[in-house]
Amino acid sequence: MLHMKTGAEQHYFALLDQLENVTPDCLDDDRYVADRGQITADDKTEMAAICEACPLVKACTTYASSAQPPAGWWPGHNLIKRRKEAA
Ligand code: SF4
Repeated sequence: MLHMKTGAEQHYFALLDQLENVTPDCLDDDRYVADRGQITADDKTEMAAICEACPLVKACTTYASSAQPPAGWWPGHNLIKRRKEAA
């Protein structure tokens, strides 16, 4: 039986495809996988700037927005929220 990728799974594989060609600056940064309570406001500002400059931000945001990962710092959860707060 053919397995069809849908929703978050499809976006996850699209992000993985792009990760084959790009090494994002978050890769060795433990803040992106830390518990949310461990990240300071200054960390969030710095991480948002890193994500905004990342060539993967569109695919990463699309995946995170659909998957709603329960842990870690994702632009889909955080960048959009910070943009709304700044507006
Ligand atoms: S946009 Fe995604 S892949 Fe790029 S630095 Fe941010 S968390 Fe990492």
